[in-house]
Amino acid sequence: MLNFLRQALGIFPCPGCGAPSDKCNAFCRECREKMKLFDGIRCPGCGGELDGALAQCSKCLREELRPWRYAVSCFPYSGYGKLLVQRFKFGGFPELARPFGFIAAERLKEISEPMDMMTSVPLFFTRCWSRSYNQSALFASICARDLHVPFRQVMFRTRPTPHQAALPRKMRVKNLKGAFAVWPWIRLDGLNVWVLDDVFTTGSTLHEAAETLLDAGAAGVRVLTLARA
Ligand SMILES: [Zn+2]
Ligand SMILES: [Zn+2]
Repeated sequence: MLNFLRQALGIFPCPGCGAPSDKCNAFCRECREKMKLFDGIRCPGCGGELDGALAQCSKCLREELRPWRYAVSCFPYSGYGKLLVQRFKFGGFPELARPFGFIAAERLKEISEPMDMMTSVPLFFTRCWSRSYNQSALFASICARDLHVPFRQVMFRTRPTPHQAALPRKMRVKNLKGAFAVWPWIRLDGLNVWVLDDVFTTGSTLHEAAETLLDAGAAGVRVLTLARA
Protein backbone atom coordinates (compact mmCIF):
# COMPACT_ATOMS: atom_id res chain seq x y z
CA MET A 1 0.00 0.00 0.00
CA LEU A 2 2.79 2.37 0.96
CA ASN A 3 4.60 1.56 -2.27
CA PHE A 4 1.43 2.09 -4.27
CA LEU A 5 0.95 5.51 -2.67
CA ARG A 6 4.55 6.42 -3.34
CA GLN A 7 4.19 5.32 -6.95
CA ALA A 8 1.01 7.35 -7.37
CA LEU A 9 2.61 10.42 -5.88
CA GLY A 10 5.95 9.75 -7.54
CA ILE A 11 7.95 9.94 -4.32
CA PHE A 12 10.54 7.42 -3.33
CA PRO A 13 13.21 7.93 -0.69
CA CYS A 14 16.61 8.54 -2.31
CA PRO A 15 19.00 5.75 -1.25
CA GLY A 16 21.74 8.36 -0.82
CA CYS A 17 20.14 11.09 1.27
CA GLY A 18 16.58 9.97 1.99
CA ALA A 19 15.00 12.98 0.25
CA PRO A 20 12.20 12.28 -2.26
CA SER A 21 13.43 10.87 -5.57
CA ASP A 22 11.22 10.43 -8.64
CA LYS A 23 12.32 6.84 -9.36
CA CYS A 24 12.35 3.82 -7.08
CA ASN A 25 15.86 2.90 -5.84
CA ALA A 26 17.49 5.72 -7.79
CA PHE A 27 19.57 8.62 -6.50
CA CYS A 28 17.77 11.98 -6.41
CA ARG A 29 18.86 14.84 -8.65
CA GLU A 30 20.76 16.57 -5.87
CA CYS A 31 22.79 13.43 -5.05
CA ARG A 32 23.57 12.92 -8.74
CA GLU A 33 24.81 16.48 -9.00
CA LYS A 34 26.93 16.07 -5.88
CA MET A 35 28.48 12.90 -7.31
CA LYS A 36 29.59 14.86 -10.41
CA LEU A 37 28.66 12.06 -12.84
CA PHE A 38 30.84 11.81 -15.94
CA ASP A 39 29.34 11.93 -19.39
CA GLY A 40 30.50 11.88 -22.99
CA ILE A 41 33.71 10.46 -24.37
CA ARG A 42 36.68 10.15 -22.02
CA CYS A 43 39.99 8.31 -22.34
CA PRO A 44 39.21 4.68 -23.32
CA GLY A 45 42.51 3.54 -21.73
CA CYS A 46 41.80 4.64 -18.18
CA GLY A 47 38.42 6.39 -18.09
CA GLY A 48 40.15 9.68 -17.27
CA GLU A 49 39.90 13.04 -18.94
CA LEU A 50 41.23 13.43 -22.49
CA ASP A 51 43.95 16.08 -22.30
CA GLY A 52 44.81 16.40 -25.99
CA ALA A 53 43.57 15.73 -29.50
CA LEU A 54 44.67 12.08 -29.45
CA ALA A 55 42.40 9.10 -28.80
CA GLN A 56 43.98 8.41 -25.39
CA CYS A 57 45.17 10.65 -22.58
CA SER A 58 48.88 11.50 -22.28
CA LYS A 59 49.29 9.23 -19.26
CA CYS A 60 47.93 6.18 -21.13
CA LEU A 61 50.09 6.95 -24.17
CA ARG A 62 53.16 6.94 -21.90
CA GLU A 63 52.26 3.77 -20.05
CA GLU A 64 52.36 0.14 -21.13
CA LEU A 65 49.51 -1.27 -23.15
CA ARG A 66 46.49 -2.23 -21.05
CA PRO A 67 44.93 -5.65 -21.56
CA TRP A 68 41.42 -4.19 -21.96
CA ARG A 69 39.98 -2.54 -25.03
CA TYR A 70 37.93 0.06 -23.23
CA ALA A 71 37.70 1.49 -19.71
CA VAL A 72 34.93 3.68 -18.41
CA SER A 73 33.96 5.12 -15.02
CA CYS A 74 30.83 6.81 -13.74
CA PHE A 75 32.08 9.50 -11.32
CA PRO A 76 35.23 10.71 -9.54
CA TYR A 77 36.35 8.93 -6.37
CA SER A 78 36.24 12.05 -4.26
CA GLY A 79 33.81 13.98 -2.08
CA TYR A 80 30.25 12.72 -1.95
CA GLY A 81 30.76 9.94 -4.54
CA LYS A 82 33.60 8.51 -2.47
CA LEU A 83 31.50 8.66 0.67
CA LEU A 84 28.69 6.70 -1.01
CA VAL A 85 31.09 4.07 -2.40
CA GLN A 86 32.68 3.61 1.03
CA ARG A 87 29.27 3.30 2.62
CA PHE A 88 28.38 0.65 0.02
CA LYS A 89 31.67 -1.20 0.42
CA PHE A 90 32.35 -1.08 4.12
CA GLY A 91 29.28 0.30 5.81
CA GLY A 92 26.89 -2.58 5.35
CA PHE A 93 24.57 -0.87 2.86
CA PRO A 94 23.99 -3.51 0.15
CA GLU A 95 20.84 -1.63 -0.92
CA LEU A 96 23.12 0.89 -2.66
CA ALA A 97 23.74 -1.81 -5.29
CA ARG A 98 20.54 -0.84 -7.13
CA PRO A 99 21.16 2.86 -7.62
CA PHE A 100 24.81 2.17 -8.45
CA GLY A 101 23.78 -0.57 -10.91
CA PHE A 102 21.40 1.88 -12.62
CA ILE A 103 24.12 4.53 -12.86
CA ALA A 104 26.54 2.02 -14.41
CA ALA A 105 23.91 0.90 -16.94
CA GLU A 106 23.14 4.51 -17.80
CA ARG A 107 26.83 5.15 -18.48
CA LEU A 108 27.15 2.03 -20.64
CA LYS A 109 24.16 3.06 -22.75
CA GLU A 110 26.27 6.01 -23.94
CA ILE A 111 28.96 3.66 -25.24
CA SER A 112 28.67 1.42 -28.28
CA GLU A 113 31.05 -1.40 -27.49
CA PRO A 114 30.30 -5.14 -27.82
CA MET A 115 28.90 -6.72 -24.67
CA ASP A 116 28.26 -10.48 -24.50
CA MET A 117 28.65 -11.05 -20.79
CA MET A 118 29.27 -9.17 -17.56
CA THR A 119 31.26 -10.29 -14.58
CA SER A 120 32.84 -8.70 -11.53
CA VAL A 121 36.11 -8.80 -9.64
CA PRO A 122 35.81 -11.60 -7.06
CA LEU A 123 36.62 -11.33 -3.37
CA PHE A 124 38.46 -14.05 -1.51
CA PHE A 125 35.76 -16.10 0.21
CA THR A 126 36.83 -15.12 3.73
CA ARG A 127 36.49 -11.42 2.86
CA CYS A 128 33.14 -12.11 1.28
CA TRP A 129 32.01 -13.80 4.50
CA SER A 130 33.21 -11.03 6.76
CA ARG A 131 31.54 -8.36 4.62
CA SER A 132 28.59 -10.68 3.91
CA TYR A 133 28.38 -9.52 0.29
CA ASN A 134 30.58 -8.76 -2.71
CA GLN A 135 29.67 -5.16 -3.55
CA SER A 136 30.94 -5.40 -7.14
CA ALA A 137 28.97 -8.53 -7.94
CA LEU A 138 25.81 -6.95 -6.50
CA PHE A 139 25.81 -3.78 -8.58
CA ALA A 140 27.19 -5.58 -11.66
CA SER A 141 24.32 -8.06 -11.71
CA ILE A 142 21.80 -5.23 -11.47
CA CYS A 143 23.54 -3.31 -14.25
CA ALA A 144 23.58 -6.44 -16.45
CA ARG A 145 19.87 -7.06 -15.88
CA ASP A 146 19.08 -3.46 -16.81
CA LEU A 147 21.01 -3.87 -20.08
CA HIS A 148 19.69 -7.40 -20.82
CA VAL A 149 23.21 -8.84 -20.81
CA PRO A 150 23.96 -12.10 -18.92
CA PHE A 151 25.91 -11.75 -15.67
CA ARG A 152 28.10 -14.58 -14.43
CA GLN A 153 30.64 -14.76 -11.65
CA VAL A 154 33.30 -16.51 -13.76
CA MET A 155 36.40 -15.88 -11.63
CA PHE A 156 37.47 -16.69 -8.09
CA ARG A 157 40.41 -15.61 -5.97
CA THR A 158 43.04 -18.28 -5.60
CA ARG A 159 44.44 -16.76 -2.39
CA PRO A 160 43.84 -13.86 -0.04
CA THR A 161 45.75 -10.71 -1.00
CA PRO A 162 46.66 -7.82 1.30
CA HIS A 163 44.60 -4.65 0.81
CA GLN A 164 45.82 -2.98 -2.36
CA ALA A 165 45.36 0.53 -1.04
CA ALA A 166 48.26 0.15 1.36
CA LEU A 167 50.75 -0.88 -1.33
CA PRO A 168 52.85 1.08 -3.85
CA ARG A 169 52.12 0.43 -7.53
CA LYS A 170 54.90 -2.09 -8.20
CA MET A 171 53.92 -4.13 -5.16
CA ARG A 172 50.27 -4.06 -6.22
CA VAL A 173 51.03 -5.80 -9.50
CA LYS A 174 53.18 -8.41 -7.74
CA ASN A 175 50.62 -8.85 -4.99
CA LEU A 176 48.00 -9.82 -7.58
CA LYS A 177 49.96 -12.06 -9.94
CA GLY A 178 47.94 -15.25 -10.34
CA ALA A 179 45.42 -14.14 -7.73
CA PHE A 180 42.42 -14.82 -10.02
CA ALA A 181 41.36 -17.91 -11.92
CA VAL A 182 38.38 -18.80 -14.09
CA TRP A 183 36.21 -21.71 -12.90
CA PRO A 184 37.17 -24.75 -15.00
CA TRP A 185 33.65 -25.31 -16.34
CA ILE A 186 33.30 -21.78 -17.73
CA ARG A 187 33.68 -21.27 -21.50
CA LEU A 188 34.56 -17.75 -22.60
CA ASP A 189 35.74 -18.49 -26.16
CA GLY A 190 34.94 -15.64 -28.48
CA LEU A 191 33.01 -13.62 -25.88
CA ASN A 192 33.35 -9.91 -25.23
CA VAL A 193 33.38 -9.71 -21.46
CA TRP A 194 32.90 -6.61 -19.29
CA VAL A 195 34.43 -6.66 -15.82
CA LEU A 196 32.84 -4.38 -13.27
CA ASP A 197 34.48 -3.13 -10.09
CA ASP A 198 33.89 -0.37 -7.57
CA VAL A 199 37.00 1.83 -7.81
CA PHE A 200 39.72 2.38 -10.42
CA THR A 201 42.91 3.43 -8.66
CA THR A 202 45.99 2.26 -10.57
CA GLY A 203 44.05 -0.33 -12.55
CA SER A 204 46.25 -3.21 -11.34
CA THR A 205 43.34 -5.30 -10.03
CA LEU A 206 41.48 -4.94 -13.32
CA HIS A 207 44.71 -5.59 -15.21
CA GLU A 208 45.12 -8.97 -13.53
CA ALA A 209 41.41 -9.80 -13.93
CA ALA A 210 41.46 -8.89 -17.65
CA GLU A 211 44.53 -11.02 -18.32
CA THR A 212 42.94 -13.95 -16.52
CA LEU A 213 39.84 -13.67 -18.74
CA LEU A 214 41.90 -13.35 -21.93
CA ASP A 215 43.96 -16.40 -20.96
CA ALA A 216 40.68 -18.28 -20.56
CA GLY A 217 39.72 -17.47 -24.15
CA ALA A 218 37.71 -14.22 -23.97
CA ALA A 219 37.80 -12.38 -27.31
CA GLY A 220 38.05 -8.99 -25.63
CA VAL A 221 37.77 -7.48 -22.17
CA ARG A 222 36.34 -4.08 -21.28
CA VAL A 223 36.10 -2.60 -17.81
CA LEU A 224 33.72 -0.35 -15.92
CA THR A 225 34.21 1.06 -12.46
CA LEU A 226 31.78 3.13 -10.47
CA ALA A 227 34.40 5.58 -9.30
CA ARG A 228 37.76 6.70 -10.57
CA ALA A 229 40.53 7.90 -8.27
ZN1 LIG B 1 19.63 12.04 -2.65
ZN1 LIG C 1 43.99 7.48 -20.07
